[in-house]
Amino acid sequence: MVSTPIATPKNSGAHYLVEPTADGRSPNQSLLPLTAKVNEQNHLEIGGCDVPTLVEQFQSPLYILDEATLRAACRQYRDAFQRHYPGESLVIYASKAWNCLAVCALIASEGLGIDVVSGGELFTALQAGVSPAQTYFHGNNKSAAELELAITSGATVVVDNWSELHLLVDLAQAGIYSPDVITATEQPSIRILLRLTPGIECHTHDYIRTGSIDSKFGFDPEQLESVFAFVRDHAVLNCVGLHAHIGSQIFEVQPHHDLAGVLVDWMVKATEYGLPIQEIDVGGGLGIRYTESDDPPSIEAWVQVVCEAMVNACNERGVALPRLISEPGRSLIGSACVTAYTVGSDKTIPSLNKTYVTVDGGMSDNPRPITYQSLYRAVVANRMHEAMTETVTVAGKHCESGDIVIPSAQLPKTTSGDVLVVMATGAYNYSMASNYNRLPRPAAVLVHQGEANIILQRETYDDLLRQDRLPHRLQSEQNNG
Ligand SMILES: *Cc1c(COP(=O)(O)O)cnc(C)c1O
Repeated sequence: MVSTPIATPKNSGAHYLVEPTADGRSPNQSLLPLTAKVNEQNHLEIGGCDVPTLVEQFQSPLYILDEATLRAACRQYRDAFQRHYPGESLVIYASKAWNCLAVCALIASEGLGIDVVSGGELFTALQAGVSPAQTYFHGNNKSAAELELAITSGATVVVDNWSELHLLVDLAQAGIYSPDVITATEQPSIRILLRLTPGIECHTHDYIRTGSIDSKFGFDPEQLESVFAFVRDHAVLNCVGLHAHIGSQIFEVQPHHDLAGVLVDWMVKATEYGLPIQEIDVGGGLGIRYTESDDPPSIEAWVQVVCEAMVNACNERGVALPRLISEPGRSLIGSACVTAYTVGSDKTIPSLNKTYVTVDGGMSDNPRPITYQSLYRAVVANRMHEAMTETVTVAGKHCESGDIVIPSAQLPKTTSGDVLVVMATGAYNYSMASNYNRLPRPAAVLVHQGEANIILQRETYDDLLRQDRLPHRLQSEQNNG
């Protein structure tokens, strides 16, 4: 029997598919990965892989990361900087969005650098083969051991505060240097940027806003001149640049425009103190589309504003263009990944006319809804052509009333065993995942041209016990009991 294609209802899951456009869509403006389509079984397909089949093969919850979308975002950033900035530029991936071997290696293969915020992230990036010359180490409370790893591996340290400056001087006095600088120069030094609080407000969630004066990150502007003097007086500190980051999930471009002027003003001031500022790092923060009402600027548009603002700020002050560094996290990887869950139980409350549909994960694999009240959208991967006739609450399986994946989801009628796919889960999902309720963390697969490769294995119950120790005293008690 030949099946006739059924016309797609306007409000089916297929409606989230990316319309192909001549200029190529900006991944951060798309709810689904760029390769998403509906196949002949009316299933969602990503990277040439049938999503329900992936769940059969790898179980759920499952993070499905689309290589083509991630590479497209890397290239759009890189190419846009080349087009719009006449000087040198470097895009570094803010890997706290999702740091693991495969993601770091893939991004490095596109020529991007990486920023890390802990010894663990740094270790992972180095193990993935990321060049230390393109690795930047952030953080507002780096330990001596973390700084030592950064310095000896040759990464650049983005200094956040006075305590860290003193700690770096102490480490230098103890002879901690990158082997490269020891052999290359008479007076070895540590390559640093200084992070400052720019005093720029933006509209985003309070917890992810970092640019206003009352922030735990960066040097206060009132103290910067004394910082410059301190760095000038300590030759072991080779300050090559300035950094600021104003926040995350930002849809306006004006704050990034204003930031360029603030940073160039400080660059001029630092030069008066004899600091050889060659690099300006404007941070990340470009938002992505999580729901159809989110309307972020494209990667191209954001880069253009950042570049033009930097060029204008430098021209107005008559200074040479610095090497322009940017640090996108969310907008590089957020839209490249979806999370597939299996639908389990449901519960209807007749008096409220409300239905809960429960999936086999929740706040442990995606803590953003409970942490930031973030909204997501979902489709049912095995019912892509069905009209979304139901409004339900998608609940997680954790012992926490707030463990709600989507408070109000438009879905087709679901039954137990359906594959529910939550979109745009590439950023701050796996990296913030926990073992709450002793749920093993999910697997992640990288999909590309019909192939799926495991990049993170699903944790097992044995993994959960790996760090557990039962003191002997308790063992005997148990045996005696
Ligand atoms: C989190 C962070 C970024 C990336 O932010 P996104 O909003 O994910 O682009 C960049 N730089 C610093 C210092 C950060 O802390």
